[in-house]
Amino acid sequence: MKFKIFAEFCNRIEATTKRLEMIDLIVDLFKVTPVNEIKWLVNLLQGKLHPDYVGLEIGIADKLALRGIERATGISLKKLSSWFVETGDLGLTCEKALRIKTQSSLLSFLGKEEDLELKEVYNGLDKIARASGKKSQDIKLDILAGLLMKASPLEGKYILRIVTGRLRLGVADATILEALALHFLGSRDQRIVLERAYNISSDLGLVAETVASKGLDGLKEFRVHPGIPLRPMLAQRLASPEEILEKMGGKCAVEYKYDGERMQIHKVGDNVSIFSRRLENITFHYPDVVKLTKLHVKADTAIFEAECVAVEPETGELRPFQELMHRRRKYGIQEALREYPVSLMVFECLFVDGEDLTNRSYLERREVLGKVLSEGERTKIVESEIVSSPEEMENFFLRAIEDGCEGLIAKDISEKSIYRAGKREFLWIKLKRSYMSKMIEPVDLVIVGAYYGKGKRKGIYGALLLASYNSEEDVFETVCKCGTGFTDEDLSNLPKILNPFKMESRHARVRAELDADVWFVPSKVIEVIGDEITLSPVHTCAKNSVREDAGLAIRFPRFTGRYRDDKSAEQATTTKEIIEMYNKQLKKIEEK
Ligand code: ATP
Repeated sequence: MKFKIFAEFCNRIEATTKRLEMIDLIVDLFKVTPVNEIKWLVNLLQGKLHPDYVGLEIGIADKLALRGIERATGISLKKLSSWFVETGDLGLTCEKALRIKTQSSLLSFLGKEEDLELKEVYNGLDKIARASGKKSQDIKLDILAGLLMKASPLEGKYILRIVTGRLRLGVADATILEALALHFLGSRDQRIVLERAYNISSDLGLVAETVASKGLDGLKEFRVHPGIPLRPMLAQRLASPEEILEKMGGKCAVEYKYDGERMQIHKVGDNVSIFSRRLENITFHYPDVVKLTKLHVKADTAIFEAECVAVEPETGELRPFQELMHRRRKYGIQEALREYPVSLMVFECLFVDGEDLTNRSYLERREVLGKVLSEGERTKIVESEIVSSPEEMENFFLRAIEDGCEGLIAKDISEKSIYRAGKREFLWIKLKRSYMSKMIEPVDLVIVGAYYGKGKRKGIYGALLLASYNSEEDVFETVCKCGTGFTDEDLSNLPKILNPFKMESRHARVRAELDADVWFVPSKVIEVIGDEITLSPVHTCAKNSVREDAGLAIRFPRFTGRYRDDKSAEQATTTKEIIEMYNKQLKKIEEK
C-alpha cells in the first residue's frame, strides 16, 4: 500500500467534524489496505508503532527533526526554525519545505521517481524508535532524511507528526473497533467479540490483523498471556452502603481502597514486567517492585494486580498519592527509590502457572492469591472482609479512612464475579470519602477547549471547556466551563500543556453548542469538583436524556489540583455516570 493513501486519509480525518464520517473514512481506508498491512495501519492511525505496553516510542526531538528536513530539502535550519516558531507545527513546516523543494526542482515536471510504501515508512520509523547508543542520533537522522527525500509534501507533514509523537488525529480505540466491526463483521453489534479480544490482549493492531485474516473464529482464539497486559477491570460508584448491598444481593466483600498507582505485575520466570493503569510498561521506574515480586510470589508464571502506595520509610504509614509522581523520573531512579519507598497492596490474581483465572469467581481467585503470595513488610494482600449489613460496611469504611485510605471497594462474591477485563460494571463498586461529605464527588473531565483570560489572566487561558465521555457513542460532551481552583503556576503552565493539542476547529468527537476561543484534541484529563449537577440549556452532556432540549452541567466547578495524567480521555468520567449522579442527587433532595 502506498503511504500517500494513508496521508490523504489522515488529511480527511483531520478535516471532518462528525464522528460517523470519521468511522466511514476509516472503513474506506480498510477497504484499500492489504490484510498483512492492517496492523501497521491501525497503529499508525493512532500515532504509534506498537501497542503502548511495548513501551517503544518514536519520540524524535524537535531539533533533530528540523535537521532531518534541512538535510532532505537543503533549506537552512534558520529558515526552518522560523517557520516552526510561526506555526508551532513541525508537520506544516516540513510540508512547506518539501513544497518549495518540489517546485524548484526538476521533479515537479517529471513527477516523483517512486512512491513511498506504507511498509517502508513503518519500518523506517521502527528503526528510528529502536536506535540506541552513541550513534543513535546519526542513525535517526539518516533514516528520517531518507524518508523525507522520497516524500511528497503531504506525506512529509504526517511523517513529521508521527515521528515527533504529535499525530493526534483523535482516533480512539472504540472508533477503530467500530470501523473494524462494520467492515469485517458486517455490523456494529459484532463489536463485542472484537472488544473482548482487545480487552485481554491490549493490542488493537493484532485484533485488526486477526479479524482481517481469520474473521470471528480467529478472535475467539484470543487467550490471556503472561507478559501481555489485560485492560484493567474498573469499579462503578454508589453513594451509600445500603445501595451497594442492595446491588450485590445483600452480601459482598469489602476491601480498602488504597490511593496509589495501580499496577499489573507479570512474572514469567525471573522476568518481571509492571504495567500502569494505562498499560504503559513502567518496570524501569520500579526496580523495588520487581524485587518484591520475585521475593513474594511463589509461582513461576503469574499475573497480579496491586495498588502501589507511597509509604513513610520509618513507620510504614501511607503517604499521599502525589508522592508517587516522583518515581516516574528518567534519571536518578536509585535516589527516588530511597526517597519515596513504596508498598504493594495486592488485590487480584489473574493467572498462575498456566492457568487463566479470569473466568473464576472472586472468592476462588482470592483463595489462589492467598496460596501463591507470601506476605512481607512491604507486600500485603489488601485488607478485606465479608459484610452483610450497612453497619458492618460503614464500620469497615471508617476503619479504611482512619488507616489513610480513600474509602472502600465492594466486590461481588457470587458465581458471576469473574474478572471482566476493560469493563466498568457493578461487580466492583467504590465508595469514597468524598461522596459522603460533598454534594457531588470529584469527576475526571477532559479538556476540549479554552477561553482567553482577561485582566490578570490576559495572554493566558482564563477558563477551560470540559467534557465527559459518552462511551456509548464514543464522543465527548461538554459539561462545564472551569476557571477556578487553578494556581498562578497552573495558569502559566496551561498553554505549555495544552498547545500541542490545539486544533483549527472543534474535534469531530467533541459535541458542543458553546463556542470556544481555542479547541483541543480531547486528551488531557483533570479532576474537578462542583457543588451540584444542574440542567443546562447550553451543555451537551446527556442532552435530551434527562429532559428534552436540556443537558447536564456541573455548577461551580473547581479544579482540585489533580492532573489525571494516568487517565486517557476515554477513561474520564462518563456521561452515564454524570446522569447517575444527577439522579442520585434528585433522590436525596426528595428524601429531604
Ligand atoms: P478513582 O478516580 O476513583 O481512582 P479510577 O477511574 O482511577 O477511579 P476506578 O476503577 O474507578 O479507577 O477505581 C478503582 C481504582 O482504585 C483501581 O483502578 C485501583 O487503582 C484502585 N484500588 C485501590 N484499592 C483497590 C482494591 N482493593 N481493589 C481494586 N482497586 C483498588
